[in-house]
Amino acid sequence: MRVSKETVVGIEYTLKDDKGNVLDTSAGHGPMEYLHGASNIIPGLEQGLEGLTAGDTKVVVVQPADAYGEYSDKLIQRVPLDRFGENKVEIGMRFHAETNLGMRVLVIRHVDDKEAVLDGNHELAGKTLTFDVKVISVRAAELTELAHGHPHQEGGCCGGGGCGSGESEGGCCSSEGSAGGCCSTEGSEGGCCSEEPAAQAKQGGCGNGGCGCSA
Ligand SMILES: [Zn+2]
Repeated sequence: MRVSKETVVGIEYTLKDDKGNVLDTSAGHGPMEYLHGASNIIPGLEQGLEGLTAGDTKVVVVQPADAYGEYSDKLIQRVPLDRFGENKVEIGMRFHAETNLGMRVLVIRHVDDKEAVLDGNHELAGKTLTFDVKVISVRAAELTELAHGHPHQEGGCCGGGGCGSGESEGGCCSSEGSAGGCCSTEGSEGGCCSEEPAAQAKQGGCGNGGCGCSA
């Protein structure tokens, strides 16, 4: 079977930047499964895998526009320190916040005695990414997987009942550090691995017979 829409694909990969630095790898985690055609992974990688079969290897080079976007100055904002109240403000701290581009992870880049500089760019924004990929498996997606928009087998991002289990920061669908990961698409708040308890999850989320997949 070839990688195409509505197949679940297992891949091993190593992600490097344009200087050859390794940014992420599946090594040690086993293959990562994703649902092809469902935006589980960045568009450029998905396109690069189209038509491959199990056992194929490929080097896929992805430009920023087909990865995490160009670096945007509009995502840099200066915030007076008094807006942080009693909270400590330190370079490198990251948190989720609503912005005019939706929910983003913001990182504090700079702090002076009056204000902090927040950066809402994805850490891989503006980078050309090189994936060394090996296709491990390709199978037809189950109907429930198509309905949920992600794979359900163990080893996948939401496999193993991880979804809705309340695993929080750094969990399987955290947007941090999951470069090229199956749930790296941003704006997944309320999605399959929302940090909200399942009982509170609403449309399309993990509750409602969603992922966790007990329904
Ligand atoms: Zn699911």
